[in-house]
Amino acid sequence: MTRLKRPATNTPPFTKRNIAAPPLRAALRLFAVTLALAASADAISLASLRINNRAAQPAASANLPFSQDDANRARALANELCRKHTPRDGGTVQGLQAAEWIAHKLLASNIDADMHYFRDATPEGEKTFCNVTCSIPAANSPERCAWVVLISHFDTKPGIGRGFTGANDGASTTALMLTIAEKLAASPLENFNVLCLWTDGEECRRKYAPHDGFHGARHAVHALNLLDMPVAAAIGLDMLGDADLHIEIPSNGTPHLKNLAVAAARKIGEPNLLTLASERVRDDFSIFLDAGIPAIDLIDFDYGPDNSWWHTPADTMAHVSANSLFRAGNLVLAILAQL
Ligand SMILES: [Zn+2]
Repeated sequence: MTRLKRPATNTPPFTKRNIAAPPLRAALRLFAVTLALAASADAISLASLRINNRAAQPAASANLPFSQDDANRARALANELCRKHTPRDGGTVQGLQAAEWIAHKLLASNIDADMHYFRDATPEGEKTFCNVTCSIPAANSPERCAWVVLISHFDTKPGIGRGFTGANDGASTTALMLTIAEKLAASPLENFNVLCLWTDGEECRRKYAPHDGFHGARHAVHALNLLDMPVAAAIGLDMLGDADLHIEIPSNGTPHLKNLAVAAARKIGEPNLLTLASERVRDDFSIFLDAGIPAIDLIDFDYGPDNSWWHTPADTMAHVSANSLFRAGNLVLAILAQL
């Protein structure tokens, strides 16, 4: 992600492409999205692999407490991701292996995972990326419900050098979202379908540009648009494992979602957990915003003294706390419960 000091001038709106919604729309799965993309004339080359498991069973209750055990599990998962898949830069074999790791963690929790391989241009030539998603249908008439998209990138920032694990920047929210997916699969939202989206290639190689950074978010938004899937909200999660947690919502978020997040923080008894920031941030969520989808980012962009641990080898698991994941997890679930 990158912080913008001044408001950006008129971001170009997402242009709806003149492609009919594919027949697989009713399936409500992003597997269909990948097929639709592969069939589109301007699609980037893409292959898809779906990992199947039995469907998550809806539960009656929408009560979604995120426990300390959940947070401990999230931290352990972040640790495992860093240990097994560092680095995991977008467009690399190691990045694709990290995507497979996410999918297999979902599978191990009896949650279907979809892997969306795609090719995209980068400053160093065309590369293969892979997003991972899981869909958790609403408890009530999911075919009639809109979608909420939770987003975390899993890739590491390229070029930082030896020892950079992206423990907070990437791994912490990747793991947090795995545990949130487990909670939601056990107890789905009543009236919203949830798409958990782990993006590849959020980080840029050189400088954010149309073909450098946000690769996975762009691919996902393009696919959602092709399917004409109604998305009520996209919520970005980034850098939420910081032991000294203070979440900011960048100013370029959708006002009603910002208000909802503030109310959710109060509801869990943590009114000081988040601040409405005055600065704009470009992160995966802003690609959704550009497409006209209501979106906010939950991000702690103050990591270490003067943010000095961000994008450095100091971003290690030593600075990622289960308590922060506990607080962030409860905030996210409280937001979802209030939608
Ligand atoms: Zn980063």
